[in-house]
Amino acid sequence: MKLEKYSFGTGDRFGHQGKAQLDAIKKAKEGGVDIAIVWNKSHREHLIVGTSPGDVRKEADDAVSSSSWSGAYYVDADHIGLSNVDSFMGPSDFFTIDVADFIGEKAGEDELEAFVKKYSEYCGQLSIDGILTPLEITIDKVRNIAEKYLVAVNQAAEIYRYIESKKGKDNFITEVSMDETAEPQTPEELLFILAALGEKGVPVQTIAPKFTGRFNKGVDYQGDVEQFNREFNDDICVIRYSVSAFNLPNNLKLSIHSGSDKFSIYPGIRRAIEEHNAGIHVKTAGTSWLEELIGLAESGESSLELVKEIYARAYSRFDELCVPYSTVIEIDRNLLPSPDEFRKWDGLQVARAIRHDASCSDYDVNIRQLLHVGYKVAAEFGDTYLQALKEHSDIVGKHVSSNLFEKHITPLFL
Ligand SMILES: [Zn+2]
Repeated sequence: MKLEKYSFGTGDRFGHQGKAQLDAIKKAKEGGVDIAIVWNKSHREHLIVGTSPGDVRKEADDAVSSSSWSGAYYVDADHIGLSNVDSFMGPSDFFTIDVADFIGEKAGEDELEAFVKKYSEYCGQLSIDGILTPLEITIDKVRNIAEKYLVAVNQAAEIYRYIESKKGKDNFITEVSMDETAEPQTPEELLFILAALGEKGVPVQTIAPKFTGRFNKGVDYQGDVEQFNREFNDDICVIRYSVSAFNLPNNLKLSIHSGSDKFSIYPGIRRAIEEHNAGIHVKTAGTSWLEELIGLAESGESSLELVKEIYARAYSRFDELCVPYSTVIEIDRNLLPSPDEFRKWDGLQVARAIRHDASCSDYDVNIRQLLHVGYKVAAEFGDTYLQALKEHSDIVGKHVSSNLFEKHITPLFL
């Protein structure tokens, strides 16, 4: 199983937008760009929403058959580890192995020594095609990187082998993610992480490093765009180099987690993948749930009331909802309108506050992020929420589809 050059992780919190999401991918194909669609959902999301991996498989299969889509599609066991991968084994054919928790754990001295010795030949100035200034590799750097990442790589290898023993070799796509951690990984770190993955025989097809800057959920990139562009370019070149140097799959590419709505870095990403003829995987799961809220708000009446109630409850449960996502949201609590104030707004104003349109003065990054992590509240409404989605599936689906196509796919690929 070989992941296509371009792929989009659409995810879908409540499992109702599969067809609308696929519509966006179909539109891209009509425009001349082939994108594989990947429905990703993490163990954490399943717990919060009360779904199981089989539900995602069913959603994906149904969306594909009812749209007569003949392109590639996958079901991603997102951010799994050894403790929770089992329930994904049947339904999934794409596994995002998350080893961020193991970063910084130190391997045994013998193993560290052996690694440093093996890669000491890279010391000095390492010129890599496409990177402006040669990387400066020293023994100390190799040692530091080994100390920081070898245990994480070993863990990835262990999980990979476990999945392989159940699914069979070549029957699934392997992604390794290290994004949910405090420190970004430099291109040099990426180089030796890939060396270690190659050495351990992990056929990684996509890797999600933590990039420089903040990737807050559902809102634009926060950070130095020029620096991001440079590092992103360098990461692509490191990957191309590593594929031949460390015997990794030749379709290996970068994966961008929390990739939705990062409008200010899309031009740089596009430039780099075009220039180097590189692939990309972009995860955008949370953005579709916010489009559901926009569609429901615009529909007015009871569905608008439901959106207001979700906001009110999310507001009163701020800490509970935000703490698990603390590294990927940044909400100025003092700027959030009170639920009473929010209740006074009409549907269009609520929609404008949530919709990611920086040129609109009603757009509110704080409300948007709070609602982004507030899907737990919607899940607690159970059937009431799902019924509203069904009732207004036309308008919601339109928003889901056009958001993905116009704001994400078009600037990146078309
Ligand atoms: Zn992630």
